Amino acid sequence: MIHLSAAHMAAQLSAGETTSVELTQKHLDRIASVDVDVHAFLFVNNEGALAQAAEVDAKRAAGEKLSPLAGVPLALKDVMTQKGVPTTCGSKILEGWRPPYDSTVVTNLKKNGIVILGKTNMDEFAMGSSTENSAYGPTHNPWDLSRIPGGSGGGSAAALAAFEAPLAIGTDTGGSIRQPAAVTGTVGVKPTYGGVSRFGLVAFSSSLDQAGPCARTVLDAALLHEAIAGLDPKDSTSINAPVPQVVAAARSGDVKGMKIGVVKELNGDGYQSGVRTRFEESLELLAAAGAEIVEVSAPNFEYALAAYYLIAPSECSSNLARFDAMRYGLRVGDVDGASAESVMNLTREVGFGREVKRRIILGTYALSSGYYDAYYGSAQKVRTLITQDFNNAFEKCDVMVSPTCPTTAFKIGEKSNDPIAMYLNDIATIPVNMAGIGGMSLPSGLAPEDGLPVGFQIMAPAMKDERMYLVGAALEAALLTKWGAPLLSKIPALAGK
Ligand code: GLN
Repeated sequence: MIHLSAAHMAAQLSAGETTSVELTQKHLDRIASVDVDVHAFLFVNNEGALAQAAEVDAKRAAGEKLSPLAGVPLALKDVMTQKGVPTTCGSKILEGWRPPYDSTVVTNLKKNGIVILGKTNMDEFAMGSSTENSAYGPTHNPWDLSRIPGGSGGGSAAALAAFEAPLAIGTDTGGSIRQPAAVTGTVGVKPTYGGVSRFGLVAFSSSLDQAGPCARTVLDAALLHEAIAGLDPKDSTSINAPVPQVVAAARSGDVKGMKIGVVKELNGDGYQSGVRTRFEESLELLAAAGAEIVEVSAPNFEYALAAYYLIAPSECSSNLARFDAMRYGLRVGDVDGASAESVMNLTREVGFGREVKRRIILGTYALSSGYYDAYYGSAQKVRTLITQDFNNAFEKCDVMVSPTCPTTAFKIGEKSNDPIAMYLNDIATIPVNMAGIGGMSLPSGLAPEDGLPVGFQIMAPAMKDERMYLVGAALEAALLTKWGAPLLSKIPALAGK
């Protein structure tokens, strides 16, 4: 039962073949059995999840009309507030904090009867590409427990791949939904900026952050996307427009006549050979499904990473100033006679990890008087150039595609002392955030040289999120025919569990 898609689970629930309490209990049992190895969860809400499930079952029994995913369980990234449930953002500085309010994403999940199993592990404040920056220890990739599950949303992606949850919520500032999806063989979507409310999403870089759906199939991601998206008066950046019809697109998967633009700059020598093999094969399958493959160029993408590492740290240095030991979580050095300043300093010293401190220092420097124009100002100009690159390319194609990441999952510890090597992981995902458009990663198979999953990235113009689902569904269907079974059925680890 836990190996089914969320859509299939929902069908069983509405046919009365199972109950949400049973389904939720099965997932809680699975978490209890495998999460000692995977460590996808920071908090498992056994009682809360079962209570929510019982409520959905009661409504169904009373004949109430329920939404499509009602009763299906989900894993929530620990950067989203849920009332009364611990929310740490993977940081010691928020240890013990139980937010007094629900994020809008959680409000929407609850409204749709989606059962929240617990909170998933992540790089501290979503800064990282491996989940190794969590203050609570790394998450392990279910394909090979000695490898990283990506980051920052490694917990959400690993929970899907380990069949601990059929659905998850992630957030993507520079790739944190798509890169973990790629290295775990799952599906992750970063909607158009403003498509999903950021209210209650603990801010990292406000002009880039975006929440989105994580799942094992394109249709499941679409169902979750529609459940969480839409205008929210509590988020001034949320878009006042109808939610894109992503479920219809995922059900159709018709790409006949669509133009798919291969980004010349995101497919070069720096990409692992098996990543390129799987990418080329996916292009052939899409062509066979009736799409036209064209080449497009985005000459300014080469500056995206450098500009991102000015913009994101600048905004984080401002956003993280709120963790001052006075209002949330940890407080250190609060002894008689201690000044507020010394308590703040000591708490931030102890409460933040190395990567977070590195970013705060970088950002504070970039924003400092006299340097603002040279750094933050220049980075914003690069951002405009990247948006123009996308606009120009989208005149020649309907979606753009690339491998999601240059390599498959690396070993835990392999890059933790080399920030630049770590940052390079996001080279293909960051341009999407810089332009505020949508991006999806779905599995395109295993790299022949290491047997690990490879992600295929689809990028669509702002507000045209449905196009990613059309192309994603077409590719997924073609690959399923080729493989004969979903990719995750080939997962070697945890086989005995
Ligand atoms: N890996 C990128 C970073 O470290 C992106 C993180 C994210 O999308 N939250 O900033």
